[in-house]
Amino acid sequence: MKRYLLNVEDNEINRTILTEILSEEYHVIEAENGQEALEKLREHQKKISLILLDVQMPVMDGYTFLDRMKEDEGLDSIPVIVMTQGNSEEDELAALEHGATDFLPKPYRPRIILHRVAGLIKLRETAAIVNQLQYDRMTGLFTKEYFYQIVREHLLQKPDQEFCIVCSNIEHFKLYNDIFGVQRGDELLKRLAELTRKMAGEDGFAARLSGDRFLCFLPRCKAERAKEFLEKEYDGKTQEYLKNVALRLGIYEIQDPGMSVELMCDRALLAADSVKGQYNRHYAVYDESLRDKLLRERAITAAMDQALQEEQFVIYYQPKYSLKEHRLSGAEALVRWIHPEWGFMSPGEFIPLFEKNGFIPRLDLYVREKVCAQLRRWMDEGYDVVPVSVNISRADIFQEDLAVTIHELVESYAIPPRLLHLEITESAYADNQDQIVSTVGRLRERGFVIEMDDFGSGYSSLNMLSQMSLDILKLDMKFTQNEIAKPVKRSFLENVISMAHQVDMTVVAEGVETDSQAERLEEAGCDYAQGYYLARPMPAEEFVKLLTKTVD
Ligand code: C2E
Ligand code: MG
Ligand code: MG
Repeated sequence: MKRYLLNVEDNEINRTILTEILSEEYHVIEAENGQEALEKLREHQKKISLILLDVQMPVMDGYTFLDRMKEDEGLDSIPVIVMTQGNSEEDELAALEHGATDFLPKPYRPRIILHRVAGLIKLRETAAIVNQLQYDRMTGLFTKEYFYQIVREHLLQKPDQEFCIVCSNIEHFKLYNDIFGVQRGDELLKRLAELTRKMAGEDGFAARLSGDRFLCFLPRCKAERAKEFLEKEYDGKTQEYLKNVALRLGIYEIQDPGMSVELMCDRALLAADSVKGQYNRHYAVYDESLRDKLLRERAITAAMDQALQEEQFVIYYQPKYSLKEHRLSGAEALVRWIHPEWGFMSPGEFIPLFEKNGFIPRLDLYVREKVCAQLRRWMDEGYDVVPVSVNISRADIFQEDLAVTIHELVESYAIPPRLLHLEITESAYADNQDQIVSTVGRLRERGFVIEMDDFGSGYSSLNMLSQMSLDILKLDMKFTQNEIAKPVKRSFLENVISMAHQVDMTVVAEGVETDSQAERLEEAGCDYAQGYYLARPMPAEEFVKLLTKTVD
């Protein structure tokens, strides 16, 4: 590749000779004085590999040109050879003081010139490559490779000191980019890089790990400061650019300096990931139990799509009975995961994770489909079916068209909407009042039956019941058991049930485990019960045996 040189010389003859010498190996751009040289330089900035500069020129001399060049950040790395008159030490010194890279005396000695030019260009290009490997282009922080290297060296040099690695991660950065545009995304990254640099301080290092993740290596005694710093600096409100941004920190306290630095960073990252989706926690410190939990979570996340495709999720049905007549009145559909290697898994193991990683709406959709298909089959086989309830997760409620899609679903299976009950957990009501009121309204208009799940688990007030139209109140297992354990006079059970009845809701108690509980609930006026005492969740083949046939 032929490089470009800038030849700055007012004397036409000299300029032509110099261009002649160089043009065999280089493209030469010419300028007659410093002013013109600056213009040419700005125009061809990226292309020019080296400048040959005369000192005495009209309009703008060589020294002024050098001074102006240095003011410009993009230009100051281009090497400059100053052509001095004779062997004047004064001139050479002045040239170097003004930032020239090298000097050559006139008259020209072609072979010497060619050697010097080639040497300087090579030097600069090598430096640029090294630079690129060391610094992240956008943020100016160290690259991860260089970070690994200097951390390793640092740990070797200071075996007696304690250090830690902090990894920071922006939650939903992709979303931020989508909403505010890539440019603002980049700006945010630069700001956060600055924050990381500050956090590293004088005695640490900061690097960009990838995308929106940053690394910081610092003495362990400073980690505490990093947390405080984050919470103070960050806190969401004080800094305009940090609005809508949730930053998470993971801290790994280095125990064994001989361990690979990549692994240390991975652990800091694991810790940062562990607080994802948690509103009230901004950081976590890595420990072994966290590691096991997160590895498990990663494995589950990696396996879930395939599990859905391969129908590893299976639906169990848990019967609900009327307390008065002990008649089967319905069932709750509860999902189980039967993994080819891990075996049987309860929803407690994976539902909370699916709520965090965004998979839950897809699983819930699948469950609804399967339940509708099952109901259809039973109806076709002549069974007298009972309503089946499915759990609606918080994330589902945010789908604008939830009511429409569920309606289309039951229609496609020709199932009356009253056969599909929807259980919405109590905490969801507290979180998104407006959203839920409108979603629930639309669902009820279409004939679906809405149950408030987990009532009494801590979020809702009785007030909420009167403000909203719902059909069924489902008492949380813990709540029921607590209230039953109290003397009748001191128990809320009766009050809650009669309050529900007043607003036309029926009441189901969940987690009924003994006959005395069932008895007590019936006395308190509770309408239905679900629990191990009556029946455990069971596969469809079992559940169907509880149904009666109207026709044969
Ligand atoms: P939930 O909706 O409150 O479901 C009731 C849970 O209590 C079920 O646990 C059920 O097996 C359990 N249970 C029922 N009777 C008794 C009893 O007498 N004693 C005890 N100790 N437990 C009893 P499961 O099946 O493990 O489900 C746990 C939670 O997972 C559910 O709580 C629900 O929030 C969620 N879940 C289950 N399936 C789905 C689903 O398809 N979609 C969504 N979004 N969440 C689901
Ligand atoms: Mg439920
Ligand atoms: Mg429940």
